[in-house]
Amino acid sequence: MERLSIDTLVNKENPLSISYVPSDLIAVDNNEYNFHGYSDPNLKPMVSSQIYIPFLDLEMASVYDGLHITVDSGYRSAQYQRALFMNRFVLNRVDIKAKFPDISPEELDAEAYKLTTSQVAKMGCSEHQTGYAFDIACYKNGEYSAATTEEERGWMNENAHRFGFILRYPKGKEEITGFDFEPWHYRYVGNDIANRLYNGGDWITLEEYHKSLKLKL
Ligand SMILES: [Zn+2]
Repeated sequence: MERLSIDTLVNKENPLSISYVPSDLIAVDNNEYNFHGYSDPNLKPMVSSQIYIPFLDLEMASVYDGLHITVDSGYRSAQYQRALFMNRFVLNRVDIKAKFPDISPEELDAEAYKLTTSQVAKMGCSEHQTGYAFDIACYKNGEYSAATTEEERGWMNENAHRFGFILRYPKGKEEITGFDFEPWHYRYVGNDIANRLYNGGDWITLEEYHKSLKLKL
């Protein structure tokens, strides 16, 4: 049985077993429309109970500051992640084909695959499977919205670390994380590490953090 800790690194080089499911998932928001737009109440966003209280504190602080941050997508199973990957792959294939009508089928697949891997994690390689990560959504005038603006994203960028969360895929660190800048994706690592990685707003990645630990050994 795989056991994770709050600083476990999950990425393309460090995948989770596809059968890993956190044992302590808890529904984090009762809005039944906020898991990628699905209206199935069984698909309420879930997170590890270890991040539930820190998340509630963050949510409360955002409300205090006149916003209301909530969760769009928390825990995702490996199978669900695979479906997301395949959906995006198919869309990218269509887009590329429209731009380059003469592309060969082999090239088209290769290009669509390359693009998709920079956008969506493959099965086992998503932090969402840990239960420690979430994508932000918000409430505006009581209405749920998966589309966040600079306001919410800016607030998270400045404040999330105070509650133990890090901006996981910062701008300028795409080569290190292997992912495009994702201003909506946050990962819980606890207050100590989050404060270090915040670095006055010049985010250090979890990859760099783990590398620095190895160097110290
Ligand atoms: Zn995410």
